Amino acid sequence: MQSAILNYDREHIWHPYTRVIDPLPVYPVESAKGVRIRLKDGRELIDGMSSWWAAIHGYNHPVLNQALRDQAEKMAHVMFGGLTHEPAVALSGKLIELTPDRLQKIFLCDSGSVSVEVAIKMALQFQHARGLPEKHRLLTVRGGYHGDTFGAMSVCDPETGMHTNFAGALAKQLFAPRPECRFSAPWQKQDIAEMAILLEQHQQELAAVILEPVVQGAGGMWFYHPGYLRELRVLCDHFDVLLIFDEIATGFGRTGKLFAAEHAGVTPDIMCLGKALTGGYLSLAATLSTDEVALTISAAEPGVFMHGPTFMGNPLACAVAAASIDLLLANNWQKRVKRIEEQLARELAPAAGLPAVEEVRVLGAIGVVEMKKPVDMAQMQRFFVERGVWIRPFGRLVYLMPPYSIKQKELGLLTSTLLEAVQTLN
Ligand SMILES: *Cc1c(COP(=O)(O)O)cnc(C)c1O
Repeated sequence: MQSAILNYDREHIWHPYTRVIDPLPVYPVESAKGVRIRLKDGRELIDGMSSWWAAIHGYNHPVLNQALRDQAEKMAHVMFGGLTHEPAVALSGKLIELTPDRLQKIFLCDSGSVSVEVAIKMALQFQHARGLPEKHRLLTVRGGYHGDTFGAMSVCDPETGMHTNFAGALAKQLFAPRPECRFSAPWQKQDIAEMAILLEQHQQELAAVILEPVVQGAGGMWFYHPGYLRELRVLCDHFDVLLIFDEIATGFGRTGKLFAAEHAGVTPDIMCLGKALTGGYLSLAATLSTDEVALTISAAEPGVFMHGPTFMGNPLACAVAAASIDLLLANNWQKRVKRIEEQLARELAPAAGLPAVEEVRVLGAIGVVEMKKPVDMAQMQRFFVERGVWIRPFGRLVYLMPPYSIKQKELGLLTSTLLEAVQTLN
């Protein structure tokens, strides 16, 4: 049975960023519950990844399951054109309430990448509506990751992103250096100097600046100083450029604040949410904007915002997202994330002294061990599976971002196994 699944998978199915000739191994999963992923062969793995930031409450949660079942009994889906429903309204109300005050309008869409496309289109349509169609480019920082669709790709890091493969087909955006000032170091104003120059030089053609606040995720698991965002807000206002925060990875408590923007006390004009939005159950994302952006778009030709996915506002996804947010708020997430942060900092610290390790950094429920050289992903993953943990390194990064429900002992197994894996390298 197991080998039939694997054989078919190998022959026919793409996985994220893989090849179909001689692909790297995948592990068949039977089920998942709490922080445990159960493989078809009966082995259990403690989850260190939250399925890419998403499963913040762990898997197979009775409250989320119930929310899905209840909604499925009413309707799984209806079109959002000309119709509305309670799950979408309830979820939108929660998101507007929890995000910075000035974000009052919301667009519900399918996935993180799509929410970035929506954000970009909003920025461009906003400038167009103001009679400034020449403001159509985007400025971002290096080291970012915003998704795999074309607009999103155009603002991913130009080297580690996928620009070279699609160069001719991608919009040409502008890139400032990656923010270098560390999260808890004293703020160095110099850090934003080149960004300021680019804004000044290109203000006439810039629609918006887009970036991930405080934590850059898949582009390098990099943490930077919130002062950067405060300065950037001032600069964007000064040069009449919108500010977009991509909180798809950072949202819902991962960095120790409900949204990373709170570290800086800054409100963007547009904000993207996804990943943990449904507690890892279904694909759903949201793009929030200020009244100013939404009203300006609506008041000018063509009088509508030009986007509308088939599964917009899917009731099942909205219902489980609303339940996930309630669960998060009811469960003292701050304390849980703080505890995880302290344990990660304490238990990963010894890695900093290892010869193969470049740096250890921890923020919120994110622990990163950056190596000096890229690791052999397949080999390290096999080691982790044999030891009963699910950790998926990429490039030079071996990192943990467990569900917030993880117990001390389970997290201890993740950190000790990670240490063991990087100890053997040189
Ligand atoms: C994952 C991610 C995206 C893309 O989301 P998908 O749901 O994979 O399309 C965009 N931005 C950030 C910061 C992300 O981490």
